[in-house]
Amino acid sequence: MKITILGCGPSGGVPMIGGAGEGGIWGACNPQDPRDTRSRSSIVIETDEGTRLLVDCGPDLRAQLLRNQIAHIDALIVTHEHADHIGGFDDIRGINRVIQRPLPLYASPDVIKSMQMRFPYAFQPWSGGEFFRPVPAPHPVSAPETIAINGTDVTFFAQRHYKVATLGLRIGNFAYSTDVEHLSEDAIEALRGVETWVVGCLQRDPHVAHACLDDVLRWRAEIKPSRVILTHMGPGLSYGPLAQELPPGTEPAYDSMTFDV
Ligand SMILES: [Zn+2]
Repeated sequence: MKITILGCGPSGGVPMIGGAGEGGIWGACNPQDPRDTRSRSSIVIETDEGTRLLVDCGPDLRAQLLRNQIAHIDALIVTHEHADHIGGFDDIRGINRVIQRPLPLYASPDVIKSMQMRFPYAFQPWSGGEFFRPVPAPHPVSAPETIAINGTDVTFFAQRHYKVATLGLRIGNFAYSTDVEHLSEDAIEALRGVETWVVGCLQRDPHVAHACLDDVLRWRAEIKPSRVILTHMGPGLSYGPLAQELPPGTEPAYDSMTFDV
């Protein structure tokens, strides 16, 4: 499978709006290093059979798809309802036009309900014809659950993200866990044996809703994936210094990074 990191930034991106001279809040990040400019977190998974799964559709979706020359998507998975993960939902209509059908949407029942409230026009019955608005075909996911999407088994597991639950997902030896501060025993069990794990890591210091660096390194010691890739990184984590400091087999992501699993 081929994984494309569309974005690996936090809810406000890097840089965030503001900063000296209104030039953005960079924190420890280096404006000269393109790997330190981060859009909102999202990935595309392309299976060996050519099925493409988009995980989350944040406010940067359009620019991310264009930059990575991706237009054909077979299904959308939404990990949770926070705005940085669904804010680009309106642009799904562009994908509808490419695939000429409603786009299967996999998310928890609560997330689907929340999206129906925030994008009511998108969930109106669709009677064919032009795609003037996004047209999803919702499939509720009750984690833990394994669902075959276009013949590829996707295992969903529940993660804790302060007050909301998020969906973690695993396909074979690859797993993606964004927006998580606590992994239950069941979630750890679902991750066992995974080889490449992309995991959210907001900052160095503990945070109420996100894993910090120590949390990720603790999980890594328990799950023992051969490759750990950090995502959803805030401005306090700069690619260069972090890549130097992390133990072998652990690395930060950067926008448009691709790798095979
Ligand atoms: Zn979130």
